[in-house]
Amino acid sequence: MKLDSAGARSTQTIGRPAPMHCDVAVIGAGPYGLSAGAHFKAKGISARVFGEPMEFWASKMPEGMLLRSPRVASNLSDPDRAFTLEAYEAASKTEPCAPLPLDTFVKYGRWFRQQLGSDLDERMVLRVERDHPGFRLTLRDGEEIRSACVVIATGIGPFKRKPAVFQRLSPKQAIHCYEGRDVGQFAGKRVAVIGAGQSALESAAILHEVNADVEVIARTSHLRWIGRHSWLHHMGPISSLLYSSHDVGPIGISRLVAYPRLVSYVPLKARDKIRTRAVRSAGAPWLIQRLSTVKITTGRSVTEATTFGDEVVLKLDDGTERRVDHVLLGTGYQVDISRYDFLPQELTRDIEQFDGYPKLAGGFRSSVPGLHFVGATAARSFGPLLYFVAGTESASRELVAHVSRSLRKYR
Ligand SMILES: Cc1cc2nc3c(=O)[nH]c(=O)nc-3n(C[C@H](O)[C@H](O)[C@H](O)COP(=O)(O)OP(=O)(O)OC[C@H]3O[C@@H](n4cnc5c(N)ncnc54)[C@H](O)[C@@H]3O)c2cc1C
Repeated sequence: MKLDSAGARSTQTIGRPAPMHCDVAVIGAGPYGLSAGAHFKAKGISARVFGEPMEFWASKMPEGMLLRSPRVASNLSDPDRAFTLEAYEAASKTEPCAPLPLDTFVKYGRWFRQQLGSDLDERMVLRVERDHPGFRLTLRDGEEIRSACVVIATGIGPFKRKPAVFQRLSPKQAIHCYEGRDVGQFAGKRVAVIGAGQSALESAAILHEVNADVEVIARTSHLRWIGRHSWLHHMGPISSLLYSSHDVGPIGISRLVAYPRLVSYVPLKARDKIRTRAVRSAGAPWLIQRLSTVKITTGRSVTEATTFGDEVVLKLDDGTERRVDHVLLGTGYQVDISRYDFLPQELTRDIEQFDGYPKLAGGFRSSVPGLHFVGATAARSFGPLLYFVAGTESASRELVAHVSRSLRKYR
């Protein structure tokens, strides 16, 4: 048996080589996968992280976007806290700034990735199957890998929510906010942006700045802005009692959600309330000024969307009509693990779920032994921090401690 530089084992048998083996396969090299990989490596566990580093952020977020999360909540996690955003800025001589630009965050993630060395494998995983006592993964080029545990850290990419009323529009006419970053293509076009959350509002601001003719249409009676009570954040130690530095959720709730393990003990109904309250639609304060001359229609929903020649005709529930070239959907996402195309049905049906979210226990483990989920898919079990980069620290620590114990038993 040979060990490669990442500690993964491969066995050569007569004829076809046996699949390479690692203890843990982490699927996805976004903030959660990269952080988990760094923690596994530090613990001496043979783990491989699969995927192109920061692909979702680099190719799906709108160009020119600023991170909504504060700088301290935008660190990826490594056990010694040596690979922080600040360390990256110092090493790369990047001027620190807030809010953090998307490009800086992507470069930071790619710099962070270097510590994984050959534990990172940029190939996509096409399929995950059970192969008792562990799993078999098939990669994009057909190579197979065996692993004792699998960690799914593949984010929200496939979960885009496209309301039924827009289903008949072509993909070119109705584009989801998470579907590409080239906003320049909309210059001079009429664009209706649907939604009232950060993605919708920030996309509207960016479109307006590239000279698109934009209107935001939102169901809510008024737009909400984060940080309207900013003085509450500037009262020194009192503020620390009210809000955690991650700044996810309102006063009080913010402190609770900073402890995902604690949140997991709250009964589901209350946990759901906390989760939805913490992530309700709102825009970052720096968007107020940027949207000041953009047409905003609130309290209205689109009841019909049809095509007339190259135009999209939208009917609103007040009987009015809009004619636009494109519709940009800032309509969020709906976690549903059956939409991960690398997970076969035989596997997903054995994963206990709450409406598309896996039911997870300590160590982020699902009901299928050895199969773990981190990131947004874990938010129903561990709370809203898991929707954000800020959750990488607690998720990685808990995941790695659990896997390390179970690998000892497995061996
Ligand atoms: C517009 C927008 C703005 C946001 N702003 C913020 C913010 O300011 N702060 C914040 O904390 N969060 C923000 N978020 C939330 C953000 O999505 C998460 O915080 C973050 O991406 C979570 O990291 P992740 O690793 O779980 O997912 P991702 O970053 O999505 O990474 C998952 C990776 O898995 C890869 N992958 C998928 N399938 C496979 C496969 N089969 N094989 C290999 N690789 C695969 C993808 O390429 C992707 O790169 C924002 C989200 C959106 C959409």
